[in-house]
Amino acid sequence: MNVQLAEDVHWVGTCEDADSGRHVHVSVYLIDAGDEYVLVDAGPPHETDIDTEVDRLTGGAGVDTLLLTHTNMPHTGHAHEYADRGVRVLSATDIPEEFGGYGELWNRDETVELAGREFSFPKPPMTDHVYSLWLYDRDSGVLFSSEALGNYHSPGRCEAVWDESGGEVSRAEVEAYVRDRLPWVRYVAPEKLESTLRDRLAGYDVSYVAPGHGTPVAGEQLEAYLDRLMDVVREVAGEWSGPQEPGTP
Ligand SMILES: [Zn+2]
Ligand SMILES: [Zn+2]
Repeated sequence: MNVQLAEDVHWVGTCEDADSGRHVHVSVYLIDAGDEYVLVDAGPPHETDIDTEVDRLTGGAGVDTLLLTHTNMPHTGHAHEYADRGVRVLSATDIPEEFGGYGELWNRDETVELAGREFSFPKPPMTDHVYSLWLYDRDSGVLFSSEALGNYHSPGRCEAVWDESGGEVSRAEVEAYVRDRLPWVRYVAPEKLESTLRDRLAGYDVSYVAPGHGTPVAGEQLEAYLDRLMDVVREVAGEWSGPQEPGTP
C-alpha cells in the first residue's frame, strides 16, 4: 500500500483480519524529509511488502530514522534489522535488553529535530498501552496517533482516507475497534475523555490524524470523526454499572 497523505508523508502499511469479516490496519508511515527518510513504526514481523514499498519510495536508500510509538507487536517487526543497518531508532518505550537493547528513548512533550524537521511527542489521552506516545510532525502537520483514534474497515476500503472527497469512517467501524481494542473505554468518564482529547488536539495544527490501526482522517473531518468516537464512548461507558458490592459474583 502507498497512499500519500501529504507531499512528504506516505502511508505504507498492511491489513489484518479483524472480527466480523472486517480488516484492521497495521500502519507504517514514511516521511520524506528531503535528504533523509523517517519511518513511523515498523509493522508486523512477517510482513515484507512494507519493506519493498519503503525501498521503492526511498529509491533503494532506505530510511535513516525509525520512530516507534511503542515497542509492541505488530509495530516493531524488523526493528532490530533496521538498527543493525545503522538506522537510528527512537522509541517511546524501553526496548528490552533481550531484543537487543538498541535505540534511544524519547520523552513526552519533548520536541526534537530529526532529519531537519521538528517532531513533538504528545502524551496520548487515549492508548491501549500504559506507555506509548503520539508523534506530531510540525512540517507536514500529521499527528501519528498510535493505538488511539482507530477503526476497523471493510475489505475493499483498505486504502480509503477520510478527507473532503469522501472515505468517511462509519460509527460502526469506530465502535468495532473501540469495543475490541480499547476495552478500558467502558470505565472512562466520557466528558473527561472528550475534554482531554479536544484540549490535546487543539494544541496542534493537524493536517491529518494518522493512526496505527485506522483510516487517516484529514484535519477538516476531525470534528465529525470525534463526534462519532464520543458517541461510541458514551454508549460503551454507559453500559458499565459500576463496581459490584464485595461478595457479589
Ligand atoms: Zn497496535
Ligand atoms: Zn484492509
